[in-house]
Amino acid sequence: MFNIAPSPQSSFSVHGIGVSSGIAIGQAHLVSNALLEVVHYVLPENQVEDEIKRFSDSILTVKKDLEVIRNSLSKNAPAELAAFISTHLSMLADKSLSEVPKEIIHKERCNAEWAIKQQMDDIVNQFEAIEDEYLRERKHDIVQVVERVIKVLLGHPRQAPVKQRENAIILVAHDISPADAIQFKQHHFAAFITDVGGVTSHTAILARSLNIPSIVALQRARDLINDGELIIVDGSIGVVIVNPSKEIWAEYKLRQEQFELEQQKLKRLKSTKAITMDGTVIELQANIEVPEDVTAVRASGATGIGLYRTEFLFMNKREMPDEEEQFQAYKQVAEAMHGLPVTIRTLDLGADKQMNPDTVSDCANPALGLRAVRLCLSEPHIFHTQLRALLRASHYGNIKILIPMLTTLAELRQTKLLLERAKLSLRKQNVPFNENIALGGMIEVPAAAINAEAFAKELDFLSIGTNDLIQYTLAIDRTHDAVAHLYNPLHPSVLKLISITIKAGTKLGKSVAVCGEMAGDAKLTKLLIGMGLRQLSMHPSNVLGVKQQILRSQMVKLNSHARKVLSYSDLEKIEPLVAKFSLQ
Ligand code: PEP
Ligand code: MG
Repeated sequence: MFNIAPSPQSSFSVHGIGVSSGIAIGQAHLVSNALLEVVHYVLPENQVEDEIKRFSDSILTVKKDLEVIRNSLSKNAPAELAAFISTHLSMLADKSLSEVPKEIIHKERCNAEWAIKQQMDDIVNQFEAIEDEYLRERKHDIVQVVERVIKVLLGHPRQAPVKQRENAIILVAHDISPADAIQFKQHHFAAFITDVGGVTSHTAILARSLNIPSIVALQRARDLINDGELIIVDGSIGVVIVNPSKEIWAEYKLRQEQFELEQQKLKRLKSTKAITMDGTVIELQANIEVPEDVTAVRASGATGIGLYRTEFLFMNKREMPDEEEQFQAYKQVAEAMHGLPVTIRTLDLGADKQMNPDTVSDCANPALGLRAVRLCLSEPHIFHTQLRALLRASHYGNIKILIPMLTTLAELRQTKLLLERAKLSLRKQNVPFNENIALGGMIEVPAAAINAEAFAKELDFLSIGTNDLIQYTLAIDRTHDAVAHLYNPLHPSVLKLISITIKAGTKLGKSVAVCGEMAGDAKLTKLLIGMGLRQLSMHPSNVLGVKQQILRSQMVKLNSHARKVLSYSDLEKIEPLVAKFSLQ
């Protein structure tokens, strides 16, 4: 499959946290932030002409590079690629980029990098005022072209021409915001590695949704790996091998084939019911971020959507999506699932999920700040719009509403009042919707788990968000690489909170699901169903692996085993026991 030869240069490995399994072998593509490296300095009068020449040379170099790339595109390369490079070339030829910076250098006696960056900021501001979304988005092209010029000026190694990169490309970045990652969904990277991040950061969740091997928290990968270098990414154990020897390369090619073979075998389970050997049925549902993810859900054999994270509809936008846009997105998912349940979570913006990737929270602890339902209740018009859109879409499928981050009953009651208000407004307009739409709450704050019975009384179902539940119980920032090794789903206090929630739901006859990342970890499946869970919602790529575990399970054994795990209060005893248990 790959025709890249292993390099004779010295090989080394970098360790991080594997957040999406699988093996990728390919060339590193460094996502730089050269723009951040630009500094300003004033030149002596007699150096201004040389600086202008340095600038003109850099423009010429980038022009030549782009032409080489365009000419080296293979015949099968997507047509948009050539068009994209041509757009960059014409932008480069435009006076605003090739001439105006010279005037700035002249007038301000500043360095070339600074001059072109000033000019770029100016152009980007003008683009931002454009109403047409497509044209407005072209500002990213300007930034990319300018970044190329700045890299040349700063003496960065330039990117290899596309021809040498027809093989797999592995994205190497310092960090990728969830908003960036959602844009990467359009590209075809073979793997995704970053210096920072935690296993359940939203970036990692999105990386998994790209369905490619991913590793985060590598600390210095971007400094250690050169652009275009051959690397191996082993997402299962969180290791990156740079410049592998021939032997290691051959070994990994074999492992990669075996992994893919294993995945093929799992596909045979697609239509098999998830049922234990002694007849207990487990509902396996999927998590999605955008309506397009439904294709992967259907391919996974999941029997519904347990979590649709609607905030991604709000990201990378200058304005909030209106009711119609939201309605269309929710309706599209509901219809595509043909009557299977679609659990749509109301807006969970805030903390690490901002509408705009550049937004910096002014709160010292953003995860404890105005996010999720708190944000919605403080901006009732935003909530009202979304609730109306959800209700309208409920006429076209089996939609359930899920409220994130509930902490107090008062929040739940206010939400119910707003839901009633949205229903009333639709009734008045004779707009059809499901009057009996189910309302569920996420249990992801310890306060809600401890008080789960009270929430279960006033809700139709509960869904445990283990990602946040672990973050808040253990006081560990889920996005912070420095504490990522302390983030442990098997911590006895986390297991106790999950158990309290399951018991509350069972007592009141309300279904309880887990929709955090724990649900998709096949090593935890036996423990979770042993604890009493009958519904798990996960990334579509995990459904078959989890199903395989269920098909190999016997409920009687699982119950007694889970009881034993819950009786321990020492993480060091729990971990080996759960590992042994999952292999039985
Ligand atoms: C969770 O917290 O477990 C969850 C599912 O929500 P999110 O990851 O979107 O915060
Ligand atoms: Mg959450």
